[in-house]
Amino acid sequence: MSTSGRESQGVTIWFTGLSGAGKSTIANQLEKILRAQGRKVEVLDGDVVRTNLSKGLGFSKEDRDTNIRRIGFVCQLLTRNGVMVISAAISPYKEIRNEVRKEIGNFAEVYVQAPMEVLIQRDVKGLYKKAIAGEIKNFTGVSDPYEPPDNPEVVVDSSRETVEESVNKVLSKLKELGYLSHVPAGSHGR
Ligand code: ADP
Repeated sequence: MSTSGRESQGVTIWFTGLSGAGKSTIANQLEKILRAQGRKVEVLDGDVVRTNLSKGLGFSKEDRDTNIRRIGFVCQLLTRNGVMVISAAISPYKEIRNEVRKEIGNFAEVYVQAPMEVLIQRDVKGLYKKAIAGEIKNFTGVSDPYEPPDNPEVVVDSSRETVEESVNKVLSKLKELGYLSHVPAGSHGR
């Protein structure tokens, strides 16, 4: 399929991965760079969505699926209006991610990886400690499933790469897919 003419099109950049893997950190840096290029950008952060759009939903499979379908729906609306939408939610189930991919069309999946030991060591929000102690039920990666993507457009490992390296991988893929006319120069070596 030709990728020409996509430089002005919207796209959903869908981050997936365990809590603390680096989705928000990489997404926020990506947002800054895309915005500096004059693009319309919106970030749907999983933690933020759960305080408004999905307020009241829990962490059962059903509620998680509803949460992701809602995020996907907003991504679809924004994408078709020319926005570069960045979703940064755990989104543990492959089937639902593939469902939103199909609905949105212009879609790039970014799998943010890091070994469990690193996540436990980072424990950004103190949640792993609690989950391992059995104080949090249905915690992804500890007491709830995570299904990695089979064919993500980008894979990053935040234990082996800097934030800048990971962001550059995403930017290069967006360029390759035709959503950017060039890889922004300001994103190198920072
Ligand atoms: P998530 O959104 O996946 O839950 P966060 O971005 O909130 O994860 O947290 C990731 C943590 O890991 C942050 O404290 C961040 O500073 C740290 N970190 C260390 N190295 C990296 C890296 N290469 N990429 C992303 N985050 C990193």
